[in-house]
Parts: sequence; C-alpha cells; structure tokens
Amino acid sequence: MTDKDQNNTVSSGYQTIGILAHVDAGKTTLSECLLYQTGMIRSIGRVDHRDAFLDTDQMEKDRGITIFTKQAQLDLPDRKITLLDTPGHVDFSPEMERALQVLDTAILVISGPDGVTGQVRILWKLLEKHQVPVFLFINKMDQPGTDREQILSELQSALDSRCLDFTGALQAENLQEELALCDEPLMEQYLAGEEIRPEQVGTLVSGRKVFPCCFGSALKMEGVDLLLDRIRSYSGPAAYPPEFGARVYKISRDPQGNRLSWMKITGGSLKVKSLLEGRDGSWQEKADQLRVYSGNSFQMVQEAEAGMIVAVTGLSAVRAGEGIGREKDHTEGVLSPVMTYAILPDSPQELPLLRKSLLLLEEEEPLLRVNYKEEKKELSVQVMGRVQMEILKQQMLERFGQNIRFGPGSIVYRETIGNTVVGMGHFEPLRHYAEVHLLMEPGEPGSGLQFASRCKEDVLDRNWQRLILTHLEEKSHPGVLTGSPITDMKITLLTGRAHEKHTEGGDFRQATYRAVRQGLMSAENILLEPILECRMEVPAENLGRVLSDFQRLGGSAEITESDGHLTTVTGCAPASVLGDYADDFISFTKGEGRIVTTLKGYEPCHNAEEVILEKMYDPELDPENPTGSVFCSHGVGTLVPWDLVPSYVHMDSGYQRKLPHAVTDREEDRYVSAETYEQLKKREEEKHLTFKDRERARGAANDELMQIFERTYGPVHKNEEEEDLQARRSWRRQHRDFSAEQAAAAKHSAAARREKQQQEEYLLVDGYNIVFAWEDLKKLAAANLDAARDRLIDMIAAHQGITGETTIIVFDAYKVSGGRENILQYHNVHVVYTREAETADQYIEKTVHKLGKSARVRVATSDGLEQMIIFGEGAQRISAAGLYAELQEKRQELQEQQVENSGGRVYLLDGLSEEEKKNLTADP
Ligand code: GDP
Ligand code: MG
Repeated sequence: MTDKDQNNTVSSGYQTIGILAHVDAGKTTLSECLLYQTGMIRSIGRVDHRDAFLDTDQMEKDRGITIFTKQAQLDLPDRKITLLDTPGHVDFSPEMERALQVLDTAILVISGPDGVTGQVRILWKLLEKHQVPVFLFINKMDQPGTDREQILSELQSALDSRCLDFTGALQAENLQEELALCDEPLMEQYLAGEEIRPEQVGTLVSGRKVFPCCFGSALKMEGVDLLLDRIRSYSGPAAYPPEFGARVYKISRDPQGNRLSWMKITGGSLKVKSLLEGRDGSWQEKADQLRVYSGNSFQMVQEAEAGMIVAVTGLSAVRAGEGIGREKDHTEGVLSPVMTYAILPDSPQELPLLRKSLLLLEEEEPLLRVNYKEEKKELSVQVMGRVQMEILKQQMLERFGQNIRFGPGSIVYRETIGNTVVGMGHFEPLRHYAEVHLLMEPGEPGSGLQFASRCKEDVLDRNWQRLILTHLEEKSHPGVLTGSPITDMKITLLTGRAHEKHTEGGDFRQATYRAVRQGLMSAENILLEPILECRMEVPAENLGRVLSDFQRLGGSAEITESDGHLTTVTGCAPASVLGDYADDFISFTKGEGRIVTTLKGYEPCHNAEEVILEKMYDPELDPENPTGSVFCSHGVGTLVPWDLVPSYVHMDSGYQRKLPHAVTDREEDRYVSAETYEQLKKREEEKHLTFKDRERARGAANDELMQIFERTYGPVHKNEEEEDLQARRSWRRQHRDFSAEQAAAAKHSAAARREKQQQEEYLLVDGYNIVFAWEDLKKLAAANLDAARDRLIDMIAAHQGITGETTIIVFDAYKVSGGRENILQYHNVHVVYTREAETADQYIEKTVHKLGKSARVRVATSDGLEQMIIFGEGAQRISAAGLYAELQEKRQELQEQQVENSGGRVYLLDGLSEEEKKNLTADP
C-alpha cells in the first residue's frame, strides 16, 4: 500500500474485516481462532462451552448464536484489524447488513458439509450490493464426506466463476492462468509471459474481480493461518480523505445503560469532546467518550483516526445508518421483516409505557418500525421471525421489567410498478414554489429503491437536487394499491424548478412526495408479497407429504439432494399461506427433520385482488400522502388532481419524447429517448407521408370538418379554459366513481355476452361524428380537435380490451390531397383515415358490404346525421349515446378488474397533446 494516492487520500493502517455466514457455519469459532493465532487471546473459548470471547451476551451464550455484531482488535505488525463477528441467524440479518456498510473486506464462511445454502446466496447478493471484496473460508473440512473439488465447483456455479482456490502458491501455473482469465489486461500480460504479481492480485480482489477461497477447519485450527496470510497478502487498509466523516452502523447500550453510537471514521479524525452535527444541523452533541471495544472490554482513546471503529457515548439523537460530516446518508438496506405483530399488553393502560420501551429498542433495531394507532389502541412491531420475537420478549423483561405477548401476525406487503412513467409534483401556494419531475422505472426484483439525478445543474442548483434526493430517501413512500411501501424501482430526477425568492426547503419536500405519488397513480401498479424459501432435510417416510404440502400451498418444491435416509428439499411458498409450517414440519417428522426458512424475495401477490379489497385503501383519500399538486391560480393556491398535473406543470420533463400512436401500438414503447424519437421520425418520414405533412393535412381537414359540423350543430363555442378543465374533470370523475353493484352487473353482462360470442364481431366507429355527439369530447374538440380524437381512440381501445370485438375507428381525411387510405394499429384498434375523396360513411358502407352477412357488424354513429344505407346490409346501428353508455359500463368493469390502474388511467393521462398542454399551462 502506498501512503498517498492521487486523490489526496491517506492510507490509514486500519482494516475492518467482517465475518459472515449462515448460522452454525463456524463464524464465532473462526473469530476465536484468528484471535488466538494472532496472540490476542491466550486460551481459546468454545461456543459449545459458552465461553467464546465474542458471544458476550447472556442470551447469546444461552443459545450459542451470535445476535449482535461484536468486534475484536487484532494488532498485526503491518496493520490493525478490527474484526466484526456478525449474526448469522436470518432473524438478525438486518443487523449484519448494517455492519456491511463499514467493511473493507469480508470473510464469507461456508460450511463445507452444507455448501451453498439459501442464506449464503443472500449474503452473496448483499456483499455485491455493498461492493465488499470477499475472501471465502470453507470450514468444517474435517468432517467426513467433504470434497474440495466438488465444493469449489458449486461455489463457482452458484456464486461466481471467479471463486478461485488460493491454497497453492501464487506462482502455480493453474492459478496464474485462472487469474489471467479474470481480467483482460492481465491476460495480455500473462500471454506475453510476464507473471502476475501479488499487488495485481490485490487490485483484482479489491475490485471484486476475484474471490480467493481457502479451506480448513476453524475448530481444529487448520487452514486458518493460510487464510490470514492470504488476507494480508491481497487486501489491506483503506485510504481516506483528510476531511472528517463517520458512518454510524449500530446503536446499543452498555450494561450501565449508556447509549453507544458505533461508527467508523471515514475521513480525518475524531477527537474526544468534539462537537458532532447531524445533517442540516438537525442535532448537535458532544462526543463524550471514544471507546475501542474488543470483546467485552474497551479502551478509551483521545482521538480516533480514519479507518477506526469506535463506540461513542454522549450522543442521543444519531440513528443507525446515519452519516456524519462528509458521509452522506445512504439508502435503506435490502433485508426487512415480512411480518408485523400486534403487541398485547396485560392491561391497556400499559400501552404507552410499552411503546416507550419498544421505541428504545427500535433505536437499536430500526426495522422494528414500532407503530401505534391511538384511535384503535393498537401497538405493533415488525419482526423477522420467531427467534427475534423471543429475544424481544426477553429484552423487554430484562431491561424494562415489562411482560409482553404477541397477537396474531400479518404479512408486510410491498408495491412496485410494471411500466416506466414520469411522476410530476408541483407546490406553489402563495409565496412558495417548487416543481419536480421524476422518471420512475421498474427495477430488478430485490433491488430495492435506487435514486439518481439526471438534471443539469444550470437547470436546478446542485443543493436543491441534493435536497430532492434526500426527500426521496428519507421516508418509505406508500404505494397506491394498499398503501404498502414501494420497492424495486429506480427513481431519477429528470428536472425541477425553484423560484429565486419564494422557494423554501419544505417546498421541495412537498413537490417530491407529490411527484412520487403522481407517478404511481399513472403507472401500472403491482402488489408484491414475501415468498419464503424452506430448506428441509426430510426423513424418507415424510417425503411424499412434504412435496404434496407445497403443491397444496400453491408453492413449489424440489429435491436438491438425497443421501439414503434424509432427502434435502427446497420449497418455496408465499409467507401468507406458509404460516406456521415450520412447526407442523417439526411435529410430523417427530423432530427428525430439519427446516430453515429464509426470505426468497418479494414476488407479485398470488391473491392481490383479495388483499387490495381487504385493505380498503383509497390513494386519493390519504391526506398524508397526496397524489395531486398545488398550483397558483390568480394568486391562490389551487389543488389540481393527479391526472391533470401533467397539463399544468411549468416544465417539460425533457428526458423522453412520446411517440405518436402511429409509430407503435404498445403504450410502454411510446416513451423513448429524444435520439430514438428522431430516428423513428425519420423512418416514418421516408414513408409516403411525413409526420408534418400528415399533421398539416389533418389540420386542414379538421378546419373543413369544423365548418361542416358547425353547419349541422350550430356554432361550436371556444370554451373558457376553466370551463374546459371542468368538463375534463367531471369526465374523469364519471369514469372513476362507480358502485360495487354497477361493477358486478357490468361484469356479469360482459361474461354473458362473451359466451354468446361465437360469430365474429365488428364495431365500426364513425370517429368525428362521435366526437361531436359527446358533450365532453365536443368541448375538448373546440379547444383542440386532435386531442379529442386521440382521447376517443384511447377510450375505444380500452373498451375493445374487454369486448374483444374487432374495432375500426374511421376518421375523415378525404380533404387531404394525394392522401391514401391510412390504417394504423393502436393497441387492438384499427384507426382508419380515409383516402382522398372518400368520406367516413363511404368507407363504413364499403366495409359493411365487404364483411357481408358472415359477421355481426355494429356501426356507431351520431343520431343527428342522415341515415346511411348500410343498415339494409344487416349491420346493426348503435347510437352515440348508446355507445357512450356501453363504454361507461365496460370501463367500470375494467376498473374493477384493476386493469384501470394499468390501461385505463394511462390512456386518460396521456391523452393530452403538446399543443393542448401549452394551451392549458399558459403562464398566468
Ligand atoms: P456460528 O453460528 O457461525 O458463529 O458458528 P459457531 O462458531 O457458533 O459454530 C457452530 C457449531 O459448529 C459449533 O458447535 C462449533 O463447535 C462447530 N464448528 C465450528 N467450526 C467447526 C469445524 O471446523 N469443524 C467441525 N466439525 N465443527 C465446527
Ligand atoms: Mg456465532
């Protein structure tokens, strides 16, 4: 390690190494062994004898498991190592994940006989997420039947192909070759006959391009010296910048009740009694004592240098996960509880006291998310599992003398989105101002929430941008289906605007929260439920039962291994149906079987409809989480509902362009980058009519049509802006509000109709006639005919989604000179622009004639126009009013089927053209 690198950072001499593993793999035993081998302890403790140096807590000694992250100091000649022993039991994995944030290096302990378990896979993913370099120690190789080659190949296939055996010397031919395969420049060097050097291996390891594996037995102290040697050769202390920074990863209390804030110094140094400050000055407190713990004992230091881990007393406000100084706050962990339990007091008067104690425990485990509903007198906590519940009960009793019982548990659901949307929020009561545009994209399952900014600093100052990101991170945003927290999304700040004088900090909080909710409302929302994975060792006589149990639960089960008597089965099922299966399992296998349950992840909920109904969550009636925005209208702050926000906002989202229906019929494909937009546009222009020509021609034809309609219906008034919006609002309301009976009736009639539908069915819609026959669309047409046309297409398309009729919407374009008949596909609807000199009725007449008597054809047209002759051909006529009624009915059904959330709402939201937007958002 060099003392200084190019970024003016200084190597610290301190290295933080975490030991991670599945419970019982031998972490604590390995830690003891490392302490002994480095001369830190004189005699070696045993977990089994309840005298391990690191399992200091009585509860840990009793159970033989590590519950709290513990540390030990190893002083080596070339460096000081802080060793963190982390809990392996899944119930305490969040504690382990928090420790990951301060690790320079990890030792992942694999139990040789068990191989790669579900828990190991989770650990691997977490290490990847936090980008921690990893050494693997394959333990318990003293046990019979463990095979090095076989385990190595399992590691390579299940974790990473770059897990390499580092038992031999670096110079060994095969290791050199395998290392070369991990990195291109090294491959060239190797092929040129130059040997790969240790410092190059160090770079590979720290870049997570190779994962050295060592084999041995912690209990027998075999292979541990080799592991230590490899760690010293290929990893080292990190380098830190001179400005002060620290990251708090854990809060606990010492036996005297002093609050300990555990932090890693990640820049500069921390002197005792110095003043520490939270983000935005939220708190200011003195660091009283700086303690360096090793096992149960500690030393006090006057100053903690960068790279050191210290427990600081005297801080009451800092939270686990918080950054101090140059460290910025980080995002939430991946792991979180899937169950929430009511806390039952002995008497209701105790509730406030219980809550107080639980809030103290929540400081130490923030994921407890203690929740108290005053009106209902309900107190609840989220927990990872049974063992954590027992520990919680015990902690409450020992620390506060309070006895608690747990009520029935319920599942913690989550929500995500299925398509990419832009969320917009605006907050502008008098003398306030903030606007935020967010790109919300579906993320990989298990990726959690990710935040980024793509906004230029000359558009929005960096400090405002940072504030917006803080607001995105600072709270769990409820989804719009059930109010469950959202997850697995990437949210990118596209653009935003502040006012020189009027913007205050709180304004961006409002605009950001509202933008998230607005985006969710316009997205396809998906309810997610936790899926559990059970790894079971099943006695032969119970195998059939286990397999059929999982089938019955709607899950899946797979035999992964079999050795005569015990068969290893991995089963997956939703947590909501699995319930207490582990208990049943233990009892029907008469204690012979073993079962380990881990969270596999969140997947789309198998009974989403049921859950959504039961939760009775109405996103628009959630006062804490508004979906709409506040705009200033004539000096007064006015609430604008979410679906109208895009037509009011002051800025263009910028990042994406929306393609016209003509180019693609898939809604989600319609948002493309500006670049793609230009390309597609060009391609379209090469066809017979250019975009512009077509738009221009349509405009001319529209003017002409307007005159015809005015002659028929009398003058169409250009409405006042407000009036037009009112019309739109009532329009949307009609399409949203419906009674349950209405919906059920609609569903019933649609089902009955579908049954009858043997014959092919066609619906021909005389486009402009309908536009002008429907009051709402007519008003819209007066402001912008294109918008009215697009709106009609959207509505008919949604309608078709249910009826299944082949649907053709015909628009007059007969005034377009040289215009050919132009048929576009939009979703499942055909949109026809008639050719030169052919009117819509002529087209419809021709089509009805062609379809003849073989199909059932309905024609929707207005009442006011002359009758067409087509009805002699056997086509059925449906009036504009009739179509309107039918659409409403179907729409309700659509909503009921929750397609509303994906299809319907999106169509409505997207119906506005750029021009129309401009009309509506002209700055007051
Ligand atoms: P942890 O839960 O990962 O901390 O695992 P422990 O260190 O508590 O060890 C779990 C059990 O495995 C204890 O009974 C240990 O004695 C045993 N154990 C640990 N290392 C070895 C080993 O190398 N070989 C064998 N056979 N047993 C071991
Ligand atoms: Mg342990």
